[in-house]
Amino acid sequence: MSDKTIFKKIIDGEIPADLVYEDELCLAFRDVSPQAPTHVLVIPRQEIRSLSETRAEDVPLLGHLVKVARDVAAQCNLEEGYRVVLNCGPQGGQEIPHLHLHLLGGRQLTWPPG
Ligand code: AMP
Repeated sequence: MSDKTIFKKIIDGEIPADLVYEDELCLAFRDVSPQAPTHVLVIPRQEIRSLSETRAEDVPLLGHLVKVARDVAAQCNLEEGYRVVLNCGPQGGQEIPHLHLHLLGGRQLTWPPG
């Protein structure tokens, strides 16, 4: 039985995703259960389980993921604003143990989150 996460299967091309961007370091694709008109996930190709498992040498990669979220927001015409969310661990609401950013936009978002 494969212990790959669903995101690793997307990286490996084993299951499809609605890709909006990709490069040598990361992929961005539409969330299968969108919580806003635009809901895109940005994930590193490298298998990192969560933000809390990143190391000092991952800082450039983390910066790149945030930059890609910004660029995808511009590509999706989110001029009115958007939110970038990174859930970490069980109490942070992280369900898939592969680091990912959520890019949410296209409606008025409220605060605080649930
Ligand atoms: P999190 O709760 O932060 O781990 O977020 C995981 C996200 O992955 C959720 O918003 C899910 O809707 C999304 N998701 C799960 N499976 C897929 C998939 N096959 N393609 C796209 N998004 C997915």
